[in-house]
Amino acid sequence: MKIYDISLTISPELPTWPGDPGVNLERISKMEDGADANVTHMSLGVHTGTHVDAPFHFMGGESDTVETLALDILTGPAHVIYLPDVAVDITVDDLQTADIPDGTTRLLLKTNNSDWWAAGNNTFQEDFLALDVEAAEWLVQRGVKLVGVDYLSVAPFRAGVPTHRVLLGAGVIALEGLDLSAVEPGEYTLYCLPLKIQGSDGAPARAILVSE
Ligand SMILES: [Zn+2]
Repeated sequence: MKIYDISLTISPELPTWPGDPGVNLERISKMEDGADANVTHMSLGVHTGTHVDAPFHFMGGESDTVETLALDILTGPAHVIYLPDVAVDITVDDLQTADIPDGTTRLLLKTNNSDWWAAGNNTFQEDFLALDVEAAEWLVQRGVKLVGVDYLSVAPFRAGVPTHRVLLGAGVIALEGLDLSAVEPGEYTLYCLPLKIQGSDGAPARAILVSE
């Protein structure tokens, strides 16, 4: 059994979405100052690093918030595909040529975005690769229930709304901010456990892939 940690490390250097508050980690109790214990306070947006989107993020109203997301979707068999030749956005053509097995419930998309994580690139990249709206619709029609991407959004930077609405409106869990640089395409078991935050539109998550 091999475990792949596909989570980003939360730190102040981690790129965050333009306009998001960023990551602040402050040690508010310090043993070197005589305290009995070290204690850190953190503040960050819920869409920081590796995280999931709940329907409430783009559907609003009475739609589901993150603490209600189904654990039996967040964990289980997952298929990783590698799309090294995406031009601008990930399209239906890209997905069709990737030989996604029938019945795939959890699909993780590895692209050249992962090279930025491997290189330790800390600058937010607007030209990351993500799903166009037709590709999102295609995944919904195929019965995919969780889609994972290797940058901070399932949707292209300049067209965030349509792709999110298609996926989240269909109850698909968006798992964003994965580092898939060390993962080969194939079959794994995904364990993704987002923090259980009441009423939230998203939550940071630890995500791992296990291969037998
Ligand atoms: Zn998000």
